[in-house]
Amino acid sequence: MTSSESASAAVVAPAVKPRPQFSLRVLRTEQLSPHMVRVVAGGPGLAEFEPKDATDMYVKIHFLQPGVEYAEPVDVFALRETMPREHWPVTRTYTVRSFDAAAQEVAIDFVVHGDAGLAGPWAASAAPGDRIIFTGPGGAYRPNPDADWFLFAGDESALPAIAAALESLPAGARGQAYIEVDTAEDIQPLDKPDAVELTWVFRNGATPDASTALLDAVANGAWQEGRVDAFVHGEREYMKALRDILFKQRGLERGQVSLSGYWAYGRTEDYFQAEKKEPIGKIL
Ligand SMILES: Cc1cc2nc3c(=O)[nH]c(=O)nc-3n(C[C@H](O)[C@H](O)[C@H](O)COP(=O)(O)OP(=O)(O)OC[C@H]3O[C@@H](n4cnc5c(N)ncnc54)[C@H](O)[C@@H]3O)c2cc1C
Repeated sequence: MTSSESASAAVVAPAVKPRPQFSLRVLRTEQLSPHMVRVVAGGPGLAEFEPKDATDMYVKIHFLQPGVEYAEPVDVFALRETMPREHWPVTRTYTVRSFDAAAQEVAIDFVVHGDAGLAGPWAASAAPGDRIIFTGPGGAYRPNPDADWFLFAGDESALPAIAAALESLPAGARGQAYIEVDTAEDIQPLDKPDAVELTWVFRNGATPDASTALLDAVANGAWQEGRVDAFVHGEREYMKALRDILFKQRGLERGQVSLSGYWAYGRTEDYFQAEKKEPIGKIL
């Protein structure tokens, strides 16, 4: 076999089976708060979507780069076999806020965080008919039915996953939930059991490197009786501080806590994901 024959064989049979890919169209958008927009998408491809049994179900959205020509229909994994890395679509990770199998619709809630980045600005100006390509889903957390109470903490990037978890709880569940947003204008109505106390925490314009609002709320908040199940996600440095509270001060075991950085202040997701493999990016 010549070297060119072996190269084309690799194109036909990639070593790793790719996750399913979905190429959808935006159906509508909804401004949920000043800093969050819901994008609802659908299309025939969604019939193949197999939801995870997880309230933090997420997908990888693939943004095509302007100025690069992609063969249609776009296949993000096939492209990786044929195009240089710098031309690959750029990925961003987002929670699936809800999947409606009957309506064949998926809803994703995006934080609108200014002009920086790809996904936030895209969502802020998304319109019906726009294309959205994602792969997945992944996801691992669902509230543990054996827990005595539940703790949720995160900034608005984790609001969709926390909201989905709260909705999934049985009516009698109890717990504490802390969600950090910028101001009271960013509060959203959430479905939750009565005995889960939801506290909205405000940054009031401070940047994450200058805000201890979420940390203070969790550190000084009520700690209930019994074994807790904790879901704690958001900005990386917040997570490092909360990790110390939960494991060092409260003595929780690893299996009781779902905790990870969803983003890092001042870094794009590309850098952030690469740093997760370095000491600076390690949280647990
Ligand atoms: C499993 C998982 C689920 C997630 N679910 C959601 C979700 O449902 N909704 C959601 O909005 N995000 C979610 N995120 C976070 C999201 O992937 C990141 O915020 C991502 O960096 C946004 O991409 P971007 O192109 O807008 O900005 P990037 O190009 O990645 O970054 C550009 C700049 O914007 C800053 N930035 C990025 N995100 C934020 C933010 N939230 N607030 C303020 N500044 C920011 C960066 O620090 C950087 O300086 C999730 C992440 C993970 C890992």
